[in-house]
Amino acid sequence: MNTPRHCDVLILGSGPAGLFAADHLLRAGVRDIVIVEQGRPMLRRVCPDGSGCDCRRCEVLDGEGGAGSFSDGKITLSATRGTHTESLFTPEQARLLGEVGTTLRRFTTGGVDHAPVDSYTALGDRHEDLHAESYPLLHVGSDGVREFGHRFSADLQRRGVRLLSGMRATQLMARDGRITGVIVSDGRDSLHDPIGADLVIAAVGMSGTPWLEEQLREHGVTLDTGPADLGIRVETDAAVLAPLIDEFYDFKLTHTSPSGIRLRSFCVNGHGFLVNEYHQALGIRAVNGHSYLARRSGRSNLAIMATITPEREPDPKAYVRTLARKINEAAGGHTVHQSLTSFASWLATGAPIGFAQTNPKTRPARLDQVLPGVLVEAYTSFLAKLGAVLPPLLAPDTLLCAPEIKYFAYRVPVDPATWESTDLRGLFVVGNAAGYTASLSAAALTGIIAAQAAASQLVAAPR
Ligand SMILES: Cc1cc2nc3c(=O)[nH]c(=O)nc-3n(C[C@H](O)[C@H](O)[C@H](O)COP(=O)(O)OP(=O)(O)OC[C@H]3O[C@@H](n4cnc5c(N)ncnc54)[C@H](O)[C@@H]3O)c2cc1C
Repeated sequence: MNTPRHCDVLILGSGPAGLFAADHLLRAGVRDIVIVEQGRPMLRRVCPDGSGCDCRRCEVLDGEGGAGSFSDGKITLSATRGTHTESLFTPEQARLLGEVGTTLRRFTTGGVDHAPVDSYTALGDRHEDLHAESYPLLHVGSDGVREFGHRFSADLQRRGVRLLSGMRATQLMARDGRITGVIVSDGRDSLHDPIGADLVIAAVGMSGTPWLEEQLREHGVTLDTGPADLGIRVETDAAVLAPLIDEFYDFKLTHTSPSGIRLRSFCVNGHGFLVNEYHQALGIRAVNGHSYLARRSGRSNLAIMATITPEREPDPKAYVRTLARKINEAAGGHTVHQSLTSFASWLATGAPIGFAQTNPKTRPARLDQVLPGVLVEAYTSFLAKLGAVLPPLLAPDTLLCAPEIKYFAYRVPVDPATWESTDLRGLFVVGNAAGYTASLSAAALTGIIAAQAAASQLVAAPR
């Protein structure tokens, strides 16, 4: 497909934020919509088995459907989950989450709804300093979330959206404080085409964050600083986490370490798998986890994320990235695994479980020697509290894998009513790239809000 010279709305990235934005632009009557996506079409996205992690473009993070496509497909249908700001959405905006759920159900088969629970009985009275939360959850699994991305995107293209896969936005174009379009490249040095656009929706997600940050700074946008998360992913026998998972699939527990670091359980995968993701722009290999509805392993995993605030570290993002790189270096450039007994021998009080890991890409290394003492203390504090509830978790061969990173450390100043940049008019910054959201549903919701605002602008001032 030739690169178009102009369109009404140009969307950068075909993750949930970009796809939901396109859907709502169409519903509002906007017809001339182009999406550029640097990754490949869904059906060609495969994370290769084996011990390497060197894909030029990470198939886990990039491509049609976005980073969520290798996720576990745990759709949090709550406006306060998956965001880094408690009251990010107004009640009226939050109601649009219903549409996110409806669209997901329309394009997937076999999702399972989990109603929120009032309390976790498995926590008993041994959960001192662990606080539990719950919320409505739709679990479509990794197979379901890929089906969703593929079918939703195909439906949008049938309705007229032009999706250019393998096409990367390389430069934002602006004049007099207003966006005018984007230069795109298909990876060949020879092709750097401008696409003019009345409005641009940047939905470049986690992998596009370094690029967007650089571009916005070049255009004089001052970015706010927020927290960043560094985590370890715990993998154990499926039976160990079953008491909590059976009560609520993606159980949420929070804890504050003795030194005041806030920790939370994140992305629990019952009978799941650990995966690698390659943050190419940063040169960082990280771990993550997912599970399928149809294919089950004998292991379960969850991440324990430590939130680094600007009050603790002036530049949380730089701190997290530096530590993630050090973790990689400790394993010769790879992701790391370490047994609990080697990480904190005093904590490993249970009997060995004797299980094999699900991610052959991690290499053995001493996380405890790379991480600052305050973080070792924080993770062991959380593990000790969770181990008090689930004693077999403290088996000596429980595996800790790292780094798991989430970089929400910058925030693009946007109008929360529209998600339009307050500095560059005509540019809407949505989804995880804006730095406020952390889940598929919250990212999708920002795409919807921006699309509605963009459509009204086009109607009010037809060009
Ligand atoms: C392994 C994994 C598991 C996860 N599990 C869950 C889960 O169970 N539930 C949940 O709610 N969330 C989960 N998440 C998070 C969820 O995937 C994200 O919150 C969501 O995908 C964010 O949507 P987005 O549209 O903002 O960005 P993304 O989904 O990251 O999409 C951004 C897209 O933009 C493209 N892009 C980037 N830069 C450019 C550029 N310069 N030009 C063109 N295209 C570009 C990328 O290739 C990508 O396809 C998981 C994430 C991962 C990686």
